[in-house]
Amino acid sequence: MVWFCEEHEVKTIVFENLKNYSALSGFKDLSWNLTANLFSKVFETVRYMRRSMGHKYGGVWTVSPAWTSQTCHQCGEIGIRVSDEISTSEMKRGEFFYCVECDEHFHADINASRNIIHVQQKKMSSAVPGRLA
Ligand SMILES: [Zn+2]
Repeated sequence: MVWFCEEHEVKTIVFENLKNYSALSGFKDLSWNLTANLFSKVFETVRYMRRSMGHKYGGVWTVSPAWTSQTCHQCGEIGIRVSDEISTSEMKRGEFFYCVECDEHFHADINASRNIIHVQQKKMSSAVPGRLA
């Protein structure tokens, strides 16, 4: 990932911060702790590698995952997660995001990624450069 970003002259990498994210009920088990620890390892490694390549603070940011996955990147309204591209009934942790306001479906990861770009452009306080927010 770091080499890909270097090749494409990516200045800033933004992660969803999974370290302090409270686990969903029924998920407070060992596998969740492993996920959080793995996230920290990946994040620290990426930051270390980026720093060694001359990027200030590593050029690595984190944002709150709660904020990025619930909001429509197009209009800013709170949307719901659904199972597929045509469904409009809520399904927790569904693969797609549906916004009632726009009446549009987006893949949940794409919607979250576009929200992350907006956070960075607006320099909102939820993103802290080079640190775990
Ligand atoms: Zn919308």
